[in-house]
Amino acid sequence: TAEVLTIRDLRIHYSVREGFRKKTLKAVNGIDLSIKAGECLGLVGESGCGKSTLAGAIMGLVPITSGSVHVAGQDVPTAVKSDPLAQARNVQMVFQDPFASLNPRRSVREALAAPLRLHGVKDSAEVEARVIDMLAKVGMKPEAADRRPHEFSGGQRQRICIARALIVKPKLLVCDEPVSALDVSIRAQIINLLLELKDELGIALLMISHDLGVVEHMSDRIAVMYLGRIVEEGAWSDIFTHPLHPYTQALIASIPDPLAPTARQCRMQGEAPSPLNPPPGCAFNPRCPSAFDKCRVGDIPPFTISPGDRFHRARCHLLEQAK
Ligand code: SF4
Ligand code: MG
Repeated sequence: TAEVLTIRDLRIHYSVREGFRKKTLKAVNGIDLSIKAGECLGLVGESGCGKSTLAGAIMGLVPITSGSVHVAGQDVPTAVKSDPLAQARNVQMVFQDPFASLNPRRSVREALAAPLRLHGVKDSAEVEARVIDMLAKVGMKPEAADRRPHEFSGGQRQRICIARALIVKPKLLVCDEPVSALDVSIRAQIINLLLELKDELGIALLMISHDLGVVEHMSDRIAVMYLGRIVEEGAWSDIFTHPLHPYTQALIASIPDPLAPTARQCRMQGEAPSPLNPPPGCAFNPRCPSAFDKCRVGDIPPFTISPGDRFHRARCHLLEQAK
């Protein structure tokens, strides 16, 4: 299967003034990632780790410092300048807040028809047929087309946003915290809907969340991000059965257990350091229970555990020692 998203050594740095000093904020600091058609990659990390900046670069909204982002074989920064409509057909995004991203004065029909018209579907019978078909795909009745977004619940509104994103048939769908604003009781419905649509339409799916529990049930692979870097990446089953990085281990330990909600949870020590002042060496070292001298200097390369098709790799000195 072809790679729909290919990211190579991507860096997104900002120059920031702190008092009298100029500093470099390395929001994305050398990331490699790829997603194939029909595959879901879960990208997990705490807020401020650079996940949304990375999403912005994939959408072509955030300037790249170095490295590359390709969607459907197209270099994104080039595509955004030369053919923004083609870029928008290749990749679409679903955001956290379905209310803020829908115009309350427009009917659902108008919200879905507008992108179609923008992409050159002029025939009104075809527009109407595709709107109704897309609504059915997200589990909504044709009558919903006549109503306005505010008449719907949060979950229904997110279905409308998903329909609007998919109606132009993108090859990649980027979902940034798509269920974080929704009631816990309906999160699973939206996650299942995204999975069904991914399989039915054969799209590549990037699921971004601060909550490993959200991506657990839907991802083929998981990438764990910490302060601008991917610290661990592997197949879903490998990440959950033998997480290699102490940060991933702490994230897994902090997923609430629905059967024992009051059980004491293993919490991460302290806060994530500011990306403006990352500690030297492994950025996780101030919070890591296993940190030793070597962790406080230099760079940690990614160690690959199972090379080949199903690779599992992590940036941690413990893996080098285990070899
Ligand atoms: Fe902990 Fe050191 Fe591994 Fe970083 S490199 S996660 S500080 S053991
Ligand atoms: Mg974010």
